[in-house]
Amino acid sequence: MTCPCGHYDYVDSTAETLAHAMTYHREHGNRIIHEKLTGSPLFQGSPLDPTEKEKEIVNHMRLYQHSARCPEVLRSFLDCNPMYWCFIPLPWDEAVTENVANRPGNSTTDPNLDAVIATTAVDNRRVANYLDNVPLPPTPYAFSYRQIKQQRLFFERLVTSSIHYRPYIKLDLYNIAIIPVCK
Ligand SMILES: [Zn+2]
Repeated sequence: MTCPCGHYDYVDSTAETLAHAMTYHREHGNRIIHEKLTGSPLFQGSPLDPTEKEKEIVNHMRLYQHSARCPEVLRSFLDCNPMYWCFIPLPWDEAVTENVANRPGNSTTDPNLDAVIATTAVDNRRVANYLDNVPLPPTPYAFSYRQIKQQRLFFERLVTSSIHYRPYIKLDLYNIAIIPVCK
């Protein structure tokens, strides 16, 4: 498997079918991007979760570690899953400009968003927790007020969904070459 940026690759072998291997990598690759961007595990770890151990191992795999930060991978992930843009901080100036034009308390550029927020309980502890875990932007960057509202909506949807819900559309992140081995 090669990352689309071409800088990283990873060799894996499987006794299962190729379809199985691809599903597996798709599953974990996308999940890890979600976790890196939001700062929270997709499912809060529970010792009862039988896949917990597997996830631990996978989280340390070099390719996944790389691709969760790789601009090429992030770009294709965001193309398919634009609701994650609110987790990509803006340059500080841009965030400030946006906030000035879009002051909290006044009407915003997206009244629909305001309406949804107004009708949803904001004191949900789990949502507050998720918001706390979102990684802080590095110094010259910031989240705008609009982005933080979108993050809140994102988590509100997440906590009210079934545990099988995935907030993202899964995509194949890697270029896979197959090397058959005869036994
Ligand atoms: Zn890459």
